[in-house]
Amino acid sequence: MARVYNFSAGPSCLPEEVLRQAASEILDYQGCGMSIMEMSHRSPTFQHIIDDAEATLRRLLGLDDGWDVLFLQGGATLEFAAVPLNLMRTRRAGYVVSGNFSKKAWQEGGKYGHAELLASSEDVNFSRIPEVGAIDQTLDYVHICQNNTIFGTMWHSLPACGSVPLVADVSSCFLSMPFDMSRYAVIYAGAQKNAGPAGTTVVCFRKDLVNDGPALSVCPTYLNWQLQATKDSMYNTPNCWGIYMSGQVFHWVEDLGGLKAMKERNEEKVKLLYDYLDQSRLFQPTAELPSRSIANVTFRTPNPSLDAVFVEGAKKRGICGVKGHRLVGGMRASCYNAVPKQAVEALVSYMSDFESTHQQQTRSL
Ligand SMILES: *Cc1c(COP(=O)(O)O)cnc(C)c1O
Repeated sequence: MARVYNFSAGPSCLPEEVLRQAASEILDYQGCGMSIMEMSHRSPTFQHIIDDAEATLRRLLGLDDGWDVLFLQGGATLEFAAVPLNLMRTRRAGYVVSGNFSKKAWQEGGKYGHAELLASSEDVNFSRIPEVGAIDQTLDYVHICQNNTIFGTMWHSLPACGSVPLVADVSSCFLSMPFDMSRYAVIYAGAQKNAGPAGTTVVCFRKDLVNDGPALSVCPTYLNWQLQATKDSMYNTPNCWGIYMSGQVFHWVEDLGGLKAMKERNEEKVKLLYDYLDQSRLFQPTAELPSRSIANVTFRTPNPSLDAVFVEGAKKRGICGVKGHRLVGGMRASCYNAVPKQAVEALVSYMSDFESTHQQQTRSL
């Protein structure tokens, strides 16, 4: 059985080594005589799995005791609500809308207080990260989405928030590169982009900020970060299998050299694509140059029906998951950590062949 070149935006490609390891342990986890999916989350075996996942992630991100780490459920989407429910103490927070997910986070924030729109790039269909002006220092927090999965843009330098805590949805750039954790108060990520199968959400928060005051009284117990931290993410039954898989992915990242090595690998991969796009007369990148993503490369031909032909033809070469999101159209190649360089080379080679056979459609430069 051949594995395809998988450019899916999420759930997405996982390291083959991790999948093989999981397969080998699926019936009998290390001599327990049962699968991780069949054992109590209160067992010492599972406690070891979650402790190890957390310890590995702490090493990768360089998190000290000033930080708590949670493995929750509900995806990044549920955290759009958890953020205001835990932090909107004076009921005023700032949001930068740089794509679909940050817009959803902003709308969700507005249910619990005043969610101020600090900047938006919706007028240019989110083809770049918007400029942010001076930030009101009395806001409870500022929320951004660091990498815009659908539009293929990312923040290359974070907004100057002063003393206002910065909260970032990092779902699609989590573990793709080092993070300067001194700049953030909270980061969160759905695992299915880069850190494991769907079903686990990682939340890292600075203890002093969250413990500085109570969550809103309407905050569901499950979403109370402080409480989840005292319960080791096990207020109720966690996603045991997902946490195990994420822990394996964390080890895989660490064994390959950590986040700095991931950044180098990812930059090398997306450079192949961006370099091709910059000289192509058929394909056009859709994100503006200074905002280009390290993970999701978006592009199109001048003609939506030709895009469809490209996507169909890709499948014949074992290249999957390159259809763009309906909000942008065109194509999107998500080059997350586990996507090998050979996959990107295969894609570029297909693009080049496709361009030669469709020369009459070339865009005017
Ligand atoms: C995929 C994604 C989400 C939504 O994640 P779910 O886990 O499906 O809730 C939110 N934000 C970003 C940046 C994403 O890439």
